Amino acid sequence: MAAEMIVDITKSFPGRPPITANLRYQVSGATVLVLFGPSGSGKTTILRCIAGLEWPEHGRIQFISRTWLDTTDGTRVAPQERQIGYMSQDYALFPPYSVAGNIAYGLHDLPQKERKKRVAEVIDLLQLRGLEERKPHQLSGGQQQRVALARAIARRPQLLLLDEPLSALDAPTRANLREELRALLKQLALPSIVVTHDWTEALTLGDLMAVISGGRVLQVGAPQEVFSRPQDAEVARVVGVETVVRGRVIDNARGLATVEVDGIKLQALCAEGIGPEVFVCIRAEDVILEPVGIGATSARNHLRGVVCEIDSAGVLARVRLNCGFSLTAMVTRSALEQLDLAPGVPIAAAIKAGAVHLIPRRDEQVG
Ligand code: ADP
Ligand code: MG
Repeated sequence: MAAEMIVDITKSFPGRPPITANLRYQVSGATVLVLFGPSGSGKTTILRCIAGLEWPEHGRIQFISRTWLDTTDGTRVAPQERQIGYMSQDYALFPPYSVAGNIAYGLHDLPQKERKKRVAEVIDLLQLRGLEERKPHQLSGGQQQRVALARAIARRPQLLLLDEPLSALDAPTRANLREELRALLKQLALPSIVVTHDWTEALTLGDLMAVISGGRVLQVGAPQEVFSRPQDAEVARVVGVETVVRGRVIDNARGLATVEVDGIKLQALCAEGIGPEVFVCIRAEDVILEPVGIGATSARNHLRGVVCEIDSAGVLARVRLNCGFSLTAMVTRSALEQLDLAPGVPIAAAIKAGAVHLIPRRDEQVG
């Protein structure tokens, strides 16, 4: 049987539109599926249904060869029978328990010796050595996150579910832990589903990404594909970053990097030590179009291109250019007319270095 995850469910809360999630994907050793979407779109509900913490009125959930839920024949596998590690957004650590106590909590059925051994293993894995006797309030946000993760993996689950694993942290900690979490998820060689509303996280962590909006799954694909080729205007609006291309950092000094994309050089503000392989991400709103030869803005990057496609929706239009790579700009209808834009027209694009975002990329990532 193909190793597949199938989620096809309807879950309603009184007075709200139902959440109807329908997705199906191949699960290999360490596939990370990201559920991406704005707040209130239904991500947590879908994750809780997979965990068995919410019960959909209709549908089916199947993980590899096991059916966890099938409302047509009454199959309902209890959460504790699903061999799942679940981490909620607020970590839900037990305040009176120590770090070791929190991790041991779910291992009560193991003999004491084995329990101790397993706690020590995950403490090493999550680099919590020396903190075993601390209480949650004596830990930093990043340490609490690690304890919650240690607890989620302690029982050697077959599937790991993480709800906004980094959102409770401050921005610098979040940036560091993003990389660590990616490495850890690969090291665990365990499939996982990660909820996030942060596109940097989606690109860093995900092998596959499902875009959720208004309680529906709009698109599923490799994150880079979904960001750069949203299937319709609604997905484009939800993901908000139209240009995601592969690049290579060729120079990085004093916070300004030079990155090469298909032979074109771009300058980006970025932290030391990033790269060399990166995703280069540019929001369409940050691309300013101007007639060729003007160069009026103070932006660091001035690219020459040709208009490929114009997609106007209301007062705004998405303009896809070929500048050596595919770049999308968002302009007003009046700018469209002023610049006389049409497919085939040469145009210049200006982008500030601060609007060129670099995200580390590893070779094992699909897409
Ligand atoms: P997300 O995680 O994407 O922010 P949620 O799954 O938490 O979204 O919520 C989706 C919708 O379901 C929201 O409108 C939310 O108010 C509603 N909802 C979630 N949980 C409950 C609940 N226990 N009772 C009532 N409504 C809920
Ligand atoms: Mg949520």
